[in-house]
Amino acid sequence: MIALENVTKTYGQHIALKDVSLRVERGQIAGLLGRNGAGKTTALNLLTGYFPPDAGKVTVDGMDMLEKPRECKRRIGYLPERPPLYDEMTVRDYLGFVSDLREVAPGDRKRHVGEILEVCDLGETADRIIGNLSKGTRQRVGIAQALCGSPEVLILDEPTVGLDPKQVVEIRSLIRRLGEGRTILFSSHIISEVQQLCTHALILHEGRLIRAFDLREGPMGENGTLRLRLSVRGKESELLPAIRSIPCVRQAERLERTDPDTAEIRIVGARQDDRGLLTDQLFRLLAALDAPIRRLQPERDDLESVFLEATSGT
Ligand code: ATP
Repeated sequence: MIALENVTKTYGQHIALKDVSLRVERGQIAGLLGRNGAGKTTALNLLTGYFPPDAGKVTVDGMDMLEKPRECKRRIGYLPERPPLYDEMTVRDYLGFVSDLREVAPGDRKRHVGEILEVCDLGETADRIIGNLSKGTRQRVGIAQALCGSPEVLILDEPTVGLDPKQVVEIRSLIRRLGEGRTILFSSHIISEVQQLCTHALILHEGRLIRAFDLREGPMGENGTLRLRLSVRGKESELLPAIRSIPCVRQAERLERTDPDTAEIRIVGARQDDRGLLTDQLFRLLAALDAPIRRLQPERDDLESVFLEATSGT
């Protein structure tokens, strides 16, 4: 688990991060989204202990980065925007070298490097000189170096930037595989990438964390509001007042019909937590009204519209 707690970071007069709190738990893949200059790299550099915050706390598994920098850093693998590769070394030698730096026991080093080469699909490239590799393969070597020392946390700064479409797909699938059992935080400009790959999305804007979502859960309405879309046989004039009488329904509105027999209704509940209760009551009510449900599904704002709305106005 990694966290920023009320962190502020300035560069001279410029405030890069203002009172930012965020948290990524084990098993989560979190995408840090933001426009240019939003503060993404600054947040990642704080989390890796590259520099300290001016105020607030950085923690890794509950330990304070300032109090226990060694223990914290040992748990983190980092792929910076420009991976620190040595062009004249072979992939295998380089990963051996990084493993030494990360205190892998000499007797374990060969096996450790072999495992990383396999995970990152670098077996056939292991004895090639890094300087001769394609950008996508270099990026995989960059991720491989972050895995040296078996850190539980991976922090990746724009891991797919500058890659061709096939390389992007390969890196995304590698990140997805690595996410099992680890904590991953990566920054990106690409909203669809975060939507596809991540369990969580964090939106930074002008140095503030303005939205945080669990992408695996239902709708992403404002402030955790529950929104459902109901397709049901019947007349809106009878259905709407009945649905509005359910206690945890805040709003019910008619949407355009696509089929003359089927009413389309958007239901807004008070809270996400009411979902079970609301659907139980809705099923009972519609059964009593003899109005068969054709479809009931949560309505989500897509991440793109949320991002554009949240970061607009400047
Ligand atoms: P990008 O997507 O363009 O990489 P970012 O979201 O990663 O941007 P940061 O690199 O964290 O943003 O920068 C946040 C702000 O702090 C920007 O306005 C940037 O110009 C400024 N900044 C970053 N590093 C420094 C520095 N070393 N000295 C002064 N200002 C800096």
